[in-house]
Amino acid sequence: MSGAADGSLDPADWNAFRALAHRVVDDMVDRLEHRRDEPVWRPLPDDVRTSFDGPLPRTGIGAEAAYAEVLARVVPYSMGNDHARFWGWYMGAGHPVGNLADLVASVLNPNMGGGDHAPVLVEQQVVRWCAEAVGYPTDASGLLVSGASEANLIGLAVARSAVLGPTVRSDGLAGTGRVAVYASAEVHSCHRKSCEVLGLGEAALRLVPVHDDYTLDVDALAEAVAADRAAGIRPLAVVATAGTINTGAVDDLDAVADLAAREGLWLHVDGAIGGFLGLSGRADLVRGLARADSLALDLHKWMQAPIDVGLVLVRDEAAHRATFSVVPAYLRHATRGLAAGDVWFNEYGIDLTRGFRALKVWMALLALGADAHGAVMDRTTALAHTLADRVDAHPDLERMAPVGCDIVCLRYRPDGRADLDDEELDAVNRELVLLVQESGVAIVTETTLRGRLAVRVAIGNHRSVPDDVDLFVATLERLGPEAVRTVAPAAPSPSAAPTPAPGATPR
Ligand SMILES: *Cc1c(COP(=O)(O)O)cnc(C)c1O
Repeated sequence: MSGAADGSLDPADWNAFRALAHRVVDDMVDRLEHRRDEPVWRPLPDDVRTSFDGPLPRTGIGAEAAYAEVLARVVPYSMGNDHARFWGWYMGAGHPVGNLADLVASVLNPNMGGGDHAPVLVEQQVVRWCAEAVGYPTDASGLLVSGASEANLIGLAVARSAVLGPTVRSDGLAGTGRVAVYASAEVHSCHRKSCEVLGLGEAALRLVPVHDDYTLDVDALAEAVAADRAAGIRPLAVVATAGTINTGAVDDLDAVADLAAREGLWLHVDGAIGGFLGLSGRADLVRGLARADSLALDLHKWMQAPIDVGLVLVRDEAAHRATFSVVPAYLRHATRGLAAGDVWFNEYGIDLTRGFRALKVWMALLALGADAHGAVMDRTTALAHTLADRVDAHPDLERMAPVGCDIVCLRYRPDGRADLDDEELDAVNRELVLLVQESGVAIVTETTLRGRLAVRVAIGNHRSVPDDVDLFVATLERLGPEAVRTVAPAAPSPSAAPTPAPGATPR
């Protein structure tokens, strides 16, 4: 299929394009329906990898041929997070309603920077619906963004200008003196980036110790604030986390809010993982969330919207707008025509031209309802506890942390190999993560907890079922001995049980 005779980029033959479009939709629905029967992920073959090295095509091959390339070289080697046993880092699997909405959003192609059109009303409604879902004031200001990294950056930017005043915008940080932002040692790395980008510097981010359950130690936070004040450093904001990236721990938001109120600190809550717990049976975990001055949420994690979409909510709309609003003549708003409209989203963040991310969230909430999203959280939480119970009862597995939200941290520690020291166990488990990934059975990732390597299983996936947990445990049993043989083949001490002969447990 080549370009139209009129020189546009439209197809010359709409019927041929329609046939291709139907085929694309059929292929994608087939994938969704049968995805479970395929490996989660495949290592890229060398010839596929090098096939992406070619030069810029000056002449096109047509949409059918280009789509054949997509099918051959991209689709089979994608990340795999649409599969039921993708439990790496923390991601949602995406939902089919959102997949369809993305197609419609792409065709309409509206610019969500502002203007008076229905897509803007859709985003405004999504902001209100999400605020309602998490128990935040529904008149809060909000903006859909690429994810929680951007939402956290915007929250902290509003804190910076609200606390330090408008001269931050005109003069930068010169003359404001040293400031500090507080968060637990388990805080996500994006907050360090925010402090760097906002000119506060990494050193401004105070990492406060955590309790045994990996939640923020609020007494230690109070001490850190007092120490900074004594040293002439101005406390600016505290970041509490509802669902940490390592273990899913939810800070005591009420206690942090009490301290923030007492000390006059801006309270920002990073709810990338657990921010929507208010829809689940564990709403009690996020009591106090509504007291945040700003709140970062992710829709593409536990809420399962196709990547990418996150949300920042700010209680004080004027403070939010005062941080970002710049209205040059060519963006002036009108009272009639397309340049009308109450809310121009470009005044609330970094982007001017913005995509229609809102539609996939809006259509899913309309189609499935908020309660179905809460039920996914309850189901995946139950799966995490099922896995944790299996680990606790297993002679060769050890749990590394309490289950937070739906995250389980564990390690393989074979019974009868008391000779393996901590470094060797770290190496065994690092190898085990790679073997599991390469097996195609599941994707899990690693982290470090109190200096020890943990296999991290972040379920967060609406497609996972109990059989998937069984298969995963069986896979650890199968590949664990291989990881030991690869990494620590040293003969066990005479008192330990013999390792299986090589090849006794084929992959
Ligand atoms: C994932 C995550 C982030 C970053 O969110 P993105 O959507 O990946 O940008 C921030 N904080 C926490 C706690 C997270 O889990």
